[in-house]
Amino acid sequence: MTNARQDVCNFNPGPAALPDEVLQQAQAELLNWGGCGLSVLEMSHRSKEYEGIQARAEEALRQLLDIPDDYRVLFLQGGASLQFAMVPMNFLPSGGVADYVLTGSWSEKALQDAQRLGQPRVAASTKEGGYRTIPSWRDLQPAPGSAYVHITSNNTIEGTQWQDLAHGLTVPVVADMSSDIASRPFRVADYHLIYAGAQKNIGPSGVTVVLVRESWLQQAEEIANQRNLPTMLRYAIHAKNKSLYNTPPTFAVYLVGLVAEWSLRQGGLSAMAERNRAKANLIYEAIDQSHGFYQGVAEPSCRSLMNITFRLADAELEAKFLQEAKTRGLIGLGGHRSVGGMRASLYNAVPYEACVRLREFMDDFRHRFS
Ligand SMILES: *Cc1c(COP(=O)(O)O)cnc(C)c1O
Repeated sequence: MTNARQDVCNFNPGPAALPDEVLQQAQAELLNWGGCGLSVLEMSHRSKEYEGIQARAEEALRQLLDIPDDYRVLFLQGGASLQFAMVPMNFLPSGGVADYVLTGSWSEKALQDAQRLGQPRVAASTKEGGYRTIPSWRDLQPAPGSAYVHITSNNTIEGTQWQDLAHGLTVPVVADMSSDIASRPFRVADYHLIYAGAQKNIGPSGVTVVLVRESWLQQAEEIANQRNLPTMLRYAIHAKNKSLYNTPPTFAVYLVGLVAEWSLRQGGLSAMAERNRAKANLIYEAIDQSHGFYQGVAEPSCRSLMNITFRLADAELEAKFLQEAKTRGLIGLGGHRSVGGMRASLYNAVPYEACVRLREFMDDFRHRFS
């Protein structure tokens, strides 16, 4: 079967949908960027042209996320997964304590790497209830002398999300925002460090965006020296070299810039949040009005607007759902291999109309099989 792009609704969890406009712009500029006769793919990362492209990407992100001037924006590689290691390597002194909040499989992975490097403590965990909930900030009591608290703002696999990112803690807070950065307004200044693999909400795979408070980098440098860290694992090196210590993922950085500019044209974070809420509501309504035919996985008060997880009565019906969805061009709806079930990822670039098509399919499927 062959599909035209407009026939397909992409609910992939990541790499995920990118805006048509962004891909069209990249296509139009692909062979000759800005009249320089070269593709971005062929440029030296030391050229004026590329410097401008990266500066423009950073500027668009700064505007979109309202990043304070005393924060550095880094474009790194190794995915969000490398940040699981880099955060404790640079900010957890050997033998030091940090607090981890377990809300899903990605936070477990972050904890695992911290365990290799120091003495992280589990400050709160919702594992016992199958990660269907998010703890309350009020219940978090960081350990005395804790270097930082680590959270996962959106749990991509389980389908839960911190509803409120304003924590009120006095300890530095680090957030893995891979799957919901730029999906809603929040205060960057509440977090000492934020990291996000780009491939969910802000670009393609291959680049990880890190926002870090400049004054905190001093500490990172000391700890990196203490640990004798290799060069590429040091935030301070990447910051000093403006993410150009070695060859950055140039094309991915360029696309992050185009996506951020697109997001600004859509009206920025509050417009994104409003659209994302409307999209998610369509699907949650289909679940809640199905009399149990679709069972939402997350506790309603902790539901994610980005990844909607649900189950059907049995594996056979779930397989049928996925199969039929696919023949209608609704793709990427299978749950993560670790948990099964269904997952609809409704990141910023997924249009409202795609959610309408999914909603119609869900209602139709239920009428035929309940
Ligand atoms: C996808 C994801 C990761 C892993 O990202 P990679 O870039 O593949 O390393 C980590 N954390 C969260 C919350 C994610 O959604």
